Amino acid sequence: MRRTKDCLIIAIDGPVGAGKSTAARLLAKRLGYRYIDSGAMYRALSWKALREGLDLDDEQCLRRLADETCIALESLDDRELILVDGQEVSRQIREREVEQASSRISIHPSVRSVMVAQQRRMAEQGGIVMDGRDIGTVVFPDADVKFYLTARLGERAKRRYLEAQAAGVTRAVDKLAEEIEARDARDMNRCASPLRRADEAVTIDTSDLLAPQVVDVMEEEIRRKVAA
Ligand code: C5P
Repeated sequence: MRRTKDCLIIAIDGPVGAGKSTAARLLAKRLGYRYIDSGAMYRALSWKALREGLDLDDEQCLRRLADETCIALESLDDRELILVDGQEVSRQIREREVEQASSRISIHPSVRSVMVAQQRRMAEQGGIVMDGRDIGTVVFPDADVKFYLTARLGERAKRRYLEAQAAGVTRAVDKLAEEIEARDARDMNRCASPLRRADEAVTIDTSDLLAPQVVDVMEEEIRRKVAA
């Protein structure tokens, strides 16, 4: 451990619906750290690509878009705001079409390298919790503490069902499970930065845990690492 206790870099990776963002947000709050949702950045870029009617398979064009797009993550009270070129798109990036597109554009290596560079810049001062698919493996291979969250597919689909329901949308659980599996497969099988557990990552199966219990386990691990 090279960084001091106040400015650690905590990396959280895992598949869709494993509870990463809920745990990351709560952990950041308990530690007084900044939470960075790297998935929101891929979603933000996808939102703009869809709005401009771009071909999601055209890597060069998407790379250019990534270069010229300003994505900002800000927090207001307890909410995270996502801005694309100054426009707030926090709600729009959660839409299904954008979600599907983000899974497709994130396979392009040159798009990823623009995102990774931005993520590293955001974390320059440390004191961050960042979640995603490649945080412990590629963005911060030297992160102070790494977690890999996972959960049973049925549980992950149920969580997505409840989230959709809270947003006023009814979705069939089995259809959601299919979509989750398809997104995970794309993330795990792509050539550039596939989703995998970093060697040193602590795995937490969140299937039967509440978010505060997941974060208790994380805090204990961080304490252990800091003390060591
Ligand atoms: O985490 P979230 O579901 O919001 O991420 C949206 C998509 O962005 C994922 O399906 C994944 O394909 C991609 N992603 C990624 N690398 C990250 C974060 C997200 O490839 N670090």
